[in-house]
Amino acid sequence: MIRSFLSSASSWQDDSLTSPVSRLAIIGIGLIGSSIARAAKDHSACETICLYDGSADVRARAGEIGLGEIADTVTACVKDADLIILCTPVGVMGEIAEAMAPALKSGAIVSDVGSVKSAVQEAVAPHIPEGVHFIAGHPIAGTEKSGPDAGFASLFEGRWCIITPPDEHEDEASVQTLTKFWEALGSTVEVMSVSRHDRVLAITSHLPHLIAFNIVGTAHDLESVTEGEVVKFSAGGFRDFTRIAASDPVMWRDVFLNNKEAVLEMLGRFNEDLSALQRAIRWGDGEQLRSFFDRSRGIRKSIIDAGQDTADDDFGRGKPSSK
Ligand code: NAP
Repeated sequence: MIRSFLSSASSWQDDSLTSPVSRLAIIGIGLIGSSIARAAKDHSACETICLYDGSADVRARAGEIGLGEIADTVTACVKDADLIILCTPVGVMGEIAEAMAPALKSGAIVSDVGSVKSAVQEAVAPHIPEGVHFIAGHPIAGTEKSGPDAGFASLFEGRWCIITPPDEHEDEASVQTLTKFWEALGSTVEVMSVSRHDRVLAITSHLPHLIAFNIVGTAHDLESVTEGEVVKFSAGGFRDFTRIAASDPVMWRDVFLNNKEAVLEMLGRFNEDLSALQRAIRWGDGEQLRSFFDRSRGIRKSIIDAGQDTADDDFGRGKPSSK
């Protein structure tokens, strides 16, 4: 059964001539799911949207905000949808795929936004019926906030979206449709293999989060020694780590459990480099420290020059101001 909350959605439905997708279904109405709904609506990337979340409170809130039609079950949500995007933590995507499979219409595209891809491919693909196309995806955009109120329509503008079609994928039209959908939301699409995605994201996203969780934990353990001064003087680098470490615990638990090998590989390299820095400090090797830090500053500059961040004090993580 579907309850309709389309009060604010009628105007964008009128101009549907160029919509890449007719009916969009979103499973999981948190930061990413609600941002996709808002962006799809703003950019007329689909004609109608139906959303479902496991939490009744979240469903009610999504209805109040006017994100689209709200379904009471996952099968009601995906029925008749041309594009279904899983926006839940990655650990539950397999069971959702199994539950929704009987209701998927022939020719539909199933995708996701999970931060790991090999594990999602393995968990979801076996449940996808013949005639339905599964093309995993990952928008490289986000914030440390969670829930339907945290989303915003411009989240994907000027950001990359990686899609990882299976090697044997033959339905180029479905890849094109998914690409057009993300482009309509303002993203640039890059096609990659699942294993490459997981290695690249292990170093650019997963390891930095692990380090942030760890440093905040270590500082917290030291509070009895520093007597509150960690919080008092947190305006230095520590503050930025606390923002990253405030990210959703369930999402990040699932990321590390599902990208174990790549994260452990990058962690091994990180530990080796950290040992080299430790040694340089011990031996007073200022030249090595200086050249290491010079290189880091250059990498930061190239990220800003590429438009993937701003030079703002808050690191502009949520929304690039220049785009
Ligand atoms: P979020 O704000 O916590 O939203 C996830 C939503 O999914 C929650 O409302 C959650 O409900 C719901 N959910 C959990 N299990 C469910 C189930 N079995 N059936 C239906 N709904 C369920 O998380 P998010 O930040 O949007 O992340 C969603 C996905 O996007 C994750 O896979 C993550 O890896 C990926 N991603 C995140 C970011 C980021 O920066 N946050 C960036 C790119 C990709 P409950 O709260 O009641 O459990």
